[in-house]
Amino acid sequence: MGGGFGGLAAARAFARHGADVTLLDRRNFHLFQPLLYQVATGGLSPGDISSPIRSVFRRTKNVKVLMAEATGLDPDQKLLRTDAGELPYDTLVIATGVRHSYFGRDEWEELAPGLKTIEHGLQIRRKVLSAFEQAEACSDEEERRRTLTFLIVGGGPTGVELAGAVGELTRRTLRGEYRAIDPAQASVYLVEAGERILPAFPSELARRAEHSLERLGVTVLSQHRVTSMGEGRCTLEHEGVTREIEANNLFWAAGVEASALGRLVAEALGAETDRVGRLVVTHELHVPSHPDIFVIGDVAAFPEPLPGVAQVAMQMGRHTATVVRQREQGQPPSPFRYRDLGSLAVIGRNAAVGQVFGRSVWGWFGWLIWSFIHLMQLVEFENRILVATQWLFNYLTFKRGARLIGNDDTSSIKDY
Ligand SMILES: Cc1cc2nc3c(=O)[nH]c(=O)nc-3n(C[C@H](O)[C@H](O)[C@H](O)COP(=O)(O)OP(=O)(O)OC[C@H]3O[C@@H](n4cnc5c(N)ncnc54)[C@H](O)[C@@H]3O)c2cc1C
Repeated sequence: MGGGFGGLAAARAFARHGADVTLLDRRNFHLFQPLLYQVATGGLSPGDISSPIRSVFRRTKNVKVLMAEATGLDPDQKLLRTDAGELPYDTLVIATGVRHSYFGRDEWEELAPGLKTIEHGLQIRRKVLSAFEQAEACSDEEERRRTLTFLIVGGGPTGVELAGAVGELTRRTLRGEYRAIDPAQASVYLVEAGERILPAFPSELARRAEHSLERLGVTVLSQHRVTSMGEGRCTLEHEGVTREIEANNLFWAAGVEASALGRLVAEALGAETDRVGRLVVTHELHVPSHPDIFVIGDVAAFPEPLPGVAQVAMQMGRHTATVVRQREQGQPPSPFRYRDLGSLAVIGRNAAVGQVFGRSVWGWFGWLIWSFIHLMQLVEFENRILVATQWLFNYLTFKRGARLIGNDDTSSIKDY
């Protein structure tokens, strides 16, 4: 269930072991979320980072792909309920991911969209690019300033990458294209409630990332907590002092909670969930009371804390197939062990920070490694060619080829 990183890896691994696999997703495509911020800032088109799931498995005859939304579960009858009917299963793998959490302030979602789906990417792209168009046509200085103020909440990798890309857009890409405004006059804020940005990275790398962001004109506000939001404004609290920033462009990259289906499954099974609704699993990745139901990726709460990254989901996906095979062969199932290959965050052109195989990398070299890894991780060869070509073009020309402003969320989706 779910054609994201976890579901895809599980389907491939089960198929290799000769199982009959049905891969279900409510979308007909796999989305490479790590490059979504580039869609949101006009660097890539939606089709560049999406692969039709059916096409990924066209040569794997024992994988059947179904576009349907899972809506419930009958664990006694071993039936999955979907909007396309009921599906029987022997083994169920739940990999439905997470969605944004606004920490109980759901009304903020309208004001500050998050970045999780292709529609989010297009919505943010429309908002960002429209801001410059509106500012060019605006004669009121105050209003123009508000229109050209961008505020991103959440200093994890997604927030850092989005802030870096918006900064680059204002300082480099749009230079010289407007007559009434100078895009470099735009203000970009990155707001983080914790001690520092990139809390999962070593502090030295976070410091370098902050420096790179500042070079792109981004103001990093650590230890600033959002206390309220309204149309065109955001109120922050820092060491007991309240401050209001007038900004027409608010974006959210601060928290996640389990997908709706995670909660439905928990209810159906009477299973335990953690604080954000993720399903608690054993070391062998199944629900404790149901050895035939595995939960992997972002929606799983493993006994030890694991980062919400693609590698965890993929390694878990592969491990479920290993556990099922071990059981069939009468062997004790082995516990899941995460092999940390590292993590990276990119801050615009020529600058990335991260750790790869336990070594810190940054700057141009970090950026090169980041580019290489992301290209290699794209699911289909076709996507790799598309993205590599686009990046080369962007790199040589400083341009972004997908700067279209659509009329609605889906009007400019290319070909996913
Ligand atoms: C903007 C952004 C940037 C990121 N950058 C990085 C990065 O640089 N490096 C990194 O390692 N990780 C990154 N991540 C995290 C990474 O993308 C996730 O950890 C990973 O996608 C988790 O995989 P998953 O299979 O658990 O869930 P997902 O990949 O989210 O897949 C879930 C799938 O389930 C489907 N689904 C959900 N509910 C249903 C339902 N009811 N019925 C049918 N289908 C359903 C969805 O359509 C989706 O296809 C990023 C995430 C985001 C949002």
